[in-house]
Amino acid sequence: SSLLQDKVAMISGAASARGIGLATAHLFASQGAKVIILDLDEKAAAEAAAAIGPEHRGYGCNVTDKDACAKAAERAVEEFGRIDILVNNAGITQPVKTLEIDPASWDRILDVNLRGVLYLSQAVIPQMQKQQSGSIACMSSVSAQRGGGILGGPHYSAAKAGVLGLAKAMAREFGPDNIRVNCVTPGLIQTDISAGKLSDEQKGDIAASIPLNRLGNANEVAGAYLFLASDLSSYITGAVIDVNGGMLIH
Ligand code: NAD
Repeated sequence: SSLLQDKVAMISGAASARGIGLATAHLFASQGAKVIILDLDEKAAAEAAAAIGPEHRGYGCNVTDKDACAKAAERAVEEFGRIDILVNNAGITQPVKTLEIDPASWDRILDVNLRGVLYLSQAVIPQMQKQQSGSIACMSSVSAQRGGGILGGPHYSAAKAGVLGLAKAMAREFGPDNIRVNCVTPGLIQTDISAGKLSDEQKGDIAASIPLNRLGNANEVAGAYLFLASDLSSYITGAVIDVNGGMLIH
């Protein structure tokens, strides 16, 4: 049987062809979910959803825009009647060092990776409270735990560490409403976020330092999201799941 039969799942940052969000949308759909893909470009989001199947939807939604998040949640409830799962997956990075972070870059990185998690959660939680059930999975990163050192700068580490605190606080606050909130902390996953930013030699060096001796792929993070979205994890909230090949065993 299917792990997400008839569940409605909203996934942010899920239109990118090689991304973790789209891999998650495909995996959730294969487990019976109706998927709502959110991404910056409405057309790309709609096309990505249609390519999975006619019962899925894609909406344009910039997660840094509180009104856009509210509209996306309203539209989802109009079309599907409920929202069971939210995956706060949208994110951007920038490989710079501390002394190079200018105010605009700080704002941009913090806004998408951290503020966006707040805004989309705020948009969806009232519906989950009505249902008295819901699962929210948030994208953090190993960069939050080890202080970067892979691809993102210190502002990215700070934003992704902020996600851990925000998610744990929401897990505490909304547990009584039967809404679970958890995080994933991936290591280096081969998607377009790092495309062209690491040489094959750099990737080889990183792989050699990882116990599983390789980088990860988008489907392997989607699997962790599926576990957190499904009832398999019904007694798990405020947790952080490492998906990093053993890069950070602690
Ligand atoms: P990706 O670039 O393929 O996907 C990111 C998606 O987010 C894109 O579709 C992009 O259009 C979308 N997006 C960007 N800004 C947005 C906004 N303001 N509103 C809505 N959507 C927006 O990269 P990915 O690797 O699949 O990244 C997915 C998430 O995983 C990100 O949060 C990233 O920080 C995180 N992550 C990635 C890795 C990795 O190694 N790839 C590791 C740890 C964490």
